[in-house]
Amino acid sequence: MTQLNTAGLNAVDIAVPAYDRTAVTPGIVHFGVGGFHRAHQAMYLDALMNDGKALDWGIVGVGVLPQDRRMYDVMSAQDHLYTLVIKHPDGTLEPRVIGSIVDYLFAPDSAEAVLDRLVDPATRIVSLTITEGGYHVNQVTGELDTSGLEADLEAGATPGSAFGFVVEALARRRAAGIPPFTVMSCDNIPGNGHVARKMLAAFARLKDPSLADHLENEVRFPNCMVDRITPVTTDADRDALSAAFGVEDGWPVVCEPFTQWVLEDDFGGVRPPYEEVGVQIVDDVEPYELMKLRLLNASHQALCYLGYLSGYRYAHEVCQDKLFVDFLLGYMTEEGTPTLPPVPGVDLDRYRHQLIERFANPEVKDTLARLCAESSDRIPKWLVPVIREQLAAGREIKRSALVVASWARYAEGTDELGEPIVVVDRLRDKLVERAQHNREDPLVFISDPDLFGDLASDARFVEQYTAALQSLHEIGARATLEAL
Ligand code: NAD
Repeated sequence: MTQLNTAGLNAVDIAVPAYDRTAVTPGIVHFGVGGFHRAHQAMYLDALMNDGKALDWGIVGVGVLPQDRRMYDVMSAQDHLYTLVIKHPDGTLEPRVIGSIVDYLFAPDSAEAVLDRLVDPATRIVSLTITEGGYHVNQVTGELDTSGLEADLEAGATPGSAFGFVVEALARRRAAGIPPFTVMSCDNIPGNGHVARKMLAAFARLKDPSLADHLENEVRFPNCMVDRITPVTTDADRDALSAAFGVEDGWPVVCEPFTQWVLEDDFGGVRPPYEEVGVQIVDDVEPYELMKLRLLNASHQALCYLGYLSGYRYAHEVCQDKLFVDFLLGYMTEEGTPTLPPVPGVDLDRYRHQLIERFANPEVKDTLARLCAESSDRIPKWLVPVIREQLAAGREIKRSALVVASWARYAEGTDELGEPIVVVDRLRDKLVERAQHNREDPLVFISDPDLFGDLASDARFVEQYTAALQSLHEIGARATLEAL
């Protein structure tokens, strides 16, 4: 058994960095070193470094939350090395030690060290995977929500939040005549660069309006679309790594084989040559985002309620059932895809089949309960726009209408065997209350303009939706799909 660290690298029998890590110098500061950053952006840099490139783009991780102390402890003990384990659908594990993270700072203990690193001219990119919550967006107004940022807004305060650090560092760089870094959000938020810019500028404006102007005028915020399913690491993952490969790693990362990163070429200066390791560098990320929302995300909704009602509990079970696969491909091909603008460089047919393969990977163990949760955030953003565009163009909507009906049926709160369904949604009470009247008033569920706009008054949609709902009630989900 070998403990993972620099000294142990020679002794492990899995792929390790091919480069001399002592020659790697920091160029990126990353906030939010969790599973996803380590499976995605750090992996791409590691691949470049293995080719002898980007050695001046080493990553310094920063954790700002109290719980990040654990990552600090593990990474420090391992010389910032960790194992990325790709889980193939046939059960094969493909491990590789990643070396692109060269340091990790725990901000609550080392705020000045974090600022020094951020202000250092060698830091040319500050990247973020701080989850949606880290952007402080008020979900109702879309404007900055300052709760949790009060301490950082006080004059002269030592920063505590990611926003506090980024803005203070930009102020210090400006004062010292050092050009600003590029802020690269890699969170799963449409228009992530736009959102980062808007929220950081609003925060900076509350501290110093001229700093906000500087940020808006001088700092680049590339948008990007990121994709790679990276579940939370479990003890079983740690045990499997040590049992199969003899590597003791305090916090390995597991992920699916697929990975995608579509990145807008909007950097303040030089950037790593990401395109040399498969990153798609583009002028406009939006078509790729729409592709992901309307094919990947909407398909998750297309499979989760119908799958659950049919008795399945995992996404891979559904996607190993031909009836469902045909339905999903039908949705994607006939309804989702016609609403997409051209997506340069992507073979959409291949992408659709790849999605089915990814969803069918039994190693990922994605639960339908997770996919069914917070539907009121998902269906209106991912599927309703497809329905609207298809209706406007006079094209097919029967599968999308069935997906909405399956949500309505799911929200009734009992499955086809009469077992209770735990509906998880911030609008749960309202949804369940409406859905329970589905049988006597078939339009009740979709008569909510906040969620569905005016779909309840579109005759074509209403016809398809009510027929689908009736069929779900009378013959159930599986037979409805068979009849489709
Ligand atoms: P994770 O829980 O492993 O890591 C999240 C990291 O963000 C932690 O370091 C945490 O401390 C930090 N963080 C959370 N809230 C913060 C805040 N308010 N301010 C500063 N830091 C904060 O999660 P993950 O799987 O790495 O996912 C992180 C993000 O990556 C997601 O929210 C999503 O936007 C994106 N992403 C994840 C996946 C995936 O499959 N896991 C796929 C695509 C994109």
